[in-house]
Formats: sequence, structure tokens, C-alpha cells
Amino acid sequence: MTPSPAETIRHWVELLCRDLALVRDRAAAGGQSSASALAALVEAAAAGRADAAWVTELVELLRGLGIPAAQAHRGWPFSDRAVGGLPGLDDGSPAMDRYVCPQQICSRREVRRPGGSVPRCAIVGASLAVHEDDR
Ligand SMILES: [Zn+2]
Repeated sequence: MTPSPAETIRHWVELLCRDLALVRDRAAAGGQSSASALAALVEAAAAGRADAAWVTELVELLRGLGIPAAQAHRGWPFSDRAVGGLPGLDDGSPAMDRYVCPQQICSRREVRRPGGSVPRCAIVGASLAVHEDDR
């Protein structure tokens, strides 16, 4: 199944959201221009302005930081559960709350383990929102 361009963009936003702390570390180590390029990308995503050009810039930035973007197309190099499924939703724990991106800018879906903290969206810097029912 080929994802639509909009899905591809949301997927990349999701990947960046999920691993922003690590990418930010790499960008900081990569110097001022990398750090400000990343900051601009995050700002654009938070404002809902991620588009095909945004994805291209992100891929180039990652490549420049030594993060293999070619691999990221098939699966993020450092997250093993990035694409598609809803990790944790099939493990028979209906009591767990489900969370989605508060501004729907990325396609993250998370569950909160009992007693765990509410997952946060790194892009918008806010807690994910409870998703009432996505059937
Ligand atoms: Zn997010």
C-alpha cells in the first residue's frame, strides 16, 4: 500500500516528533547552522506548514548529521515501532488510555501504561490528547 503524500508528510513529522531529543542532540553537535535548520523545521511543523519541501529539507538535514535517511524511509534507524500499527493496543489492555497528537500535525498514537506519565508531543511541546474512540 502506497501512502498518500499527506500521509508521508505526517509520517515524517511523527518520526521527528518521536525522536526529536536525539535529533536535537545531533544537530547541536553539528553546529549552529544544523541547530537552526532543525529549529526552523520544528517550528514549521508545529505551525502545520510541513509539506513535501519540508520533508526534503528534513531528509537532507538528517543526512548531513549522519543519520541515514535512506534507512529512515523504510524504518527510522533508532525507533523500531515507528510505522503503521498501534503499539500496545493489541495486548489486551483496554483500560489504557490512547493518545494522539493534540494538533493532529503528526500521526503519533501512544498508549499510557498504568501509572505512566502522559506522552508528550515534542513538536508542539504539549501533552498528547486522549483519543476517545477511533473506531
Ligand atoms: Zn506530535
